[in-house]
Parts: sequence; structure tokens; C-alpha cells
Amino acid sequence: MHVIEVRNLLKRFDGIDAVNDISFEVEEGTIFGFLGPNGAGKTTTISILCTLLSPTSGSASIKGYDCVTNPTMVRRSIGIVFQDTTLDKDLTAYENLMFHAYLYDVKRSEIKSRVSDALRFVDLYERKDDLVKKFSGGMKRRLEVARSLTHRPSVLFLDEPTLGLDPQTRANLWEYIVDLPKKHNVTVFMTTHYMEEAEVCDRIAIIDKGRIIIAGTP
Ligand code: ATP
Repeated sequence: MHVIEVRNLLKRFDGIDAVNDISFEVEEGTIFGFLGPNGAGKTTTISILCTLLSPTSGSASIKGYDCVTNPTMVRRSIGIVFQDTTLDKDLTAYENLMFHAYLYDVKRSEIKSRVSDALRFVDLYERKDDLVKKFSGGMKRRLEVARSLTHRPSVLFLDEPTLGLDPQTRANLWEYIVDLPKKHNVTVFMTTHYMEEAEVCDRIAIIDKGRIIIAGTP
């Protein structure tokens, strides 16, 4: 089943076609890598899929929910880890995840177990009561991945999840990412500039100047 479908998507900013008539789909339970140089249109595409931007024309859907006409259902179906952290540094790891679970209306009786499970998945359970401002960059990124899982999204968007991390921390975070489809039943849509990360994806698409130039298996 295709959990993401993009058809003839176009986004024009002041005369620039940031995304220029692209079409692709992503199979459920896979890792999809979206590659391309700076300014190619990756963030614009993700922003449309996450309902943060509306397209100029064409369509995009998640689990069959149209990103323009059914944004509420799309938002319930997705998790997002963007480049800039949105964690509250003055709260503990546990409080950050609890807050997120409340925002997403997770059933009260399930909140604590979901938050604990997510923290265990990224090996931060022992540090759950530490303030986020005491965490390293790699720990924060792992915590963001954990947080994005607490409402059980079908699709997780990771925008350059390992950017700015040292090689060892990157490899460590990557171990959690490759486990996501199997362990959390989630489809991963990620952007990356690293070839070794692209190679682990089930499928990739390369975008340049708003157009998909190659799509297939790495
Ligand atoms: P990066 O790897 O640097 O994040 P990207 O592939 O994500 O790049 P986009 O951020 O999608 O690229 O940008 C695609 C093009 O659209 C660029 O030419 C950019 O300048 C332009 N663009 C993006 N957002 C806007 C905006 N809000 N207004 C005008 N132009 C924009």
C-alpha cells in the first residue's frame, strides 16, 4: 500500500518553481530517502506533506488523506523531526514527551507507558528526569525521535536528522532510525546528504531544481 502519494506537485514562490511537477509514492513500512543539493526543493516538498505549506497545484496525500483538504487527519498521521530543535530545554526529557502526548490527545491511560517505551527505544529512559539543556546534541536528536513516536504516527518525517552530529553520534542515531519501520510500524521519509545513509534506504529519489531526476533503489 502507498502511504504517501504525490501527484504533479508544484510550488511556486515569486516566479521560482521550488517544486516543479513532481510525482512519487512511498510504500508502507519502508525508509524513503529524499536527496538533493541545497535549494533543490526538499524542505518545500516536506512542508507541503506536513500541511505547513499549500501547493500551487497538484496533490499530496498521507494514508489517503489529502494534505490540503484534510489537514487534521494528515497531522494525526505524521510525526516530524526538523533540523531546528523544538524541545523545551527547561523541561526534563520525560516532561517534554508528556507534554507532546497531551497535545496529541493520547489516551490518558496510555500516556505514561507510551512515553516510557519511547524513552527506552532511544536508550534515554535512565536520563528521563534530566533537564534537556544538559543533553548533548545527539541525545537531543534521539529525544526528538522518541517524542515524535509517542502519538504513534504512520509516517515519520526526518529532515536531515543527523546534520551537525559527529560521525560516531550519527552512526548511533542511525541505528535507531533503521529500526523504526519494524519496531514502530512507521514509514520513514527522510532527507540526507550522506551517501551511506541513502544506501540504507529502501528507495530514494533525487531532486534537483525542483524536479525529480532519479528515483529507484539505491
Ligand atoms: P536545503 O537542503 O538547503 O534545506 P531544500 O532542498 O530543502 O534545500 P527548499 O528549502 O525547498 O530547498 O528551497 C527550494 C527553493 O525555493 C530555493 O530556491 C528557495 O530559495 C526557494 N524558497 C523556499 N522557501 C521559500 C519562500 N518561503 N519564499 C521564497 N522562496 C522560497
